[in-house]
Amino acid sequence: MALCIYCPSEGPFHKEHVLPANLGGFKNAEPLLNCICQNCNNRTLSSLDSYFVESGPQAMFRCLLGIKGRAKKGPHSPYEYGPRGEPAIKLRARPKGADFECLYCIDEIRDGKFVGRMLRQVVVKDKEGQWHPIYVSERVRHIGSLRGLIESEVDGPPTDIQAFDDEDSEGWLFELLKKEYAGNFTSRQMPAHETENPPIGDMVVGPEYFRAIAKIAFHYYLLQDNSVGGDEREFSGIRDFILKGGDADRFVTSDLPLQKGACFGDPCHLFGAGRNGQSVGAWVMFSAMPDGDNPQRYYVNIGKDPGHIIRLRSNAWAHRYRYYSAGEGEKNNYDGEIVPVPAKLVRMPRS
Ligand SMILES: [Zn+2]
Repeated sequence: MALCIYCPSEGPFHKEHVLPANLGGFKNAEPLLNCICQNCNNRTLSSLDSYFVESGPQAMFRCLLGIKGRAKKGPHSPYEYGPRGEPAIKLRARPKGADFECLYCIDEIRDGKFVGRMLRQVVVKDKEGQWHPIYVSERVRHIGSLRGLIESEVDGPPTDIQAFDDEDSEGWLFELLKKEYAGNFTSRQMPAHETENPPIGDMVVGPEYFRAIAKIAFHYYLLQDNSVGGDEREFSGIRDFILKGGDADRFVTSDLPLQKGACFGDPCHLFGAGRNGQSVGAWVMFSAMPDGDNPQRYYVNIGKDPGHIIRLRSNAWAHRYRYYSAGEGEKNNYDGEIVPVPAKLVRMPRS
């Protein structure tokens, strides 16, 4: 009788997808069966998934690819709300000819490159001469909300305000500013797309992010290696970390990214796992873009190799979760497909 690997429950079991379902549906994806009980999934594990897809680079990636996930709601914009209680992503770049930075979002890929678009905003100069770009969402249509926004960012009355809005909004932002800050602001038209490959803003992620990475890597390994069950005592450390948190550095470390464009021609996630008789580990890389600089690659220390006494032959697996291009996607019912890649692309774990 199979038991849940996280608790001794006899089920019912949850059908676990290695990659969170909100990152899309993939052809050839096999779920982990009879491994994780519904209780553990609903209580803890599924919330790690939602944290993961709404934080960090994945949040941006989902917006770019328009991945809707199971809920079929559009992904929310991480530039507007901030993923999961974290501050909104601030992507700053300097418009041509300006002596201050403005806020951008990335919502388009053109010829394999990110294209930034300016957000509606006010850029406010404080009494020390520092500029503060402040995003103004569609909901800020009242002078009180706008004043509150500015005051939360800048001490004292602003000495200058540059306001950016597009033609379509019929100038409501400028009208608001006229009432309150007349004579102290300049209205500007938002430029069309002009900033290619803008710097990716600092993204803050919480500890759940690394637990989610550990979970994805561990479950990926369990799916590949049929000779382990996941409940071995060698894996009790990582199971505890996934379930309850703890010292993330012990389980998840970052590694140098692969070389630019090393192994893909489409947006993808790359997973690999292996055992060498001494230890078991996995490499994961999320949200890689073709031709872009590869994202951070993480090494996940899964545990000691449970087969170390018998000296099992070393073994390794690697897969690319490749997103379909627009034309391909229409022909299929999936967002992408899983393709095996040579495991040597993904080095064996350190022992
Ligand atoms: Zn359980």
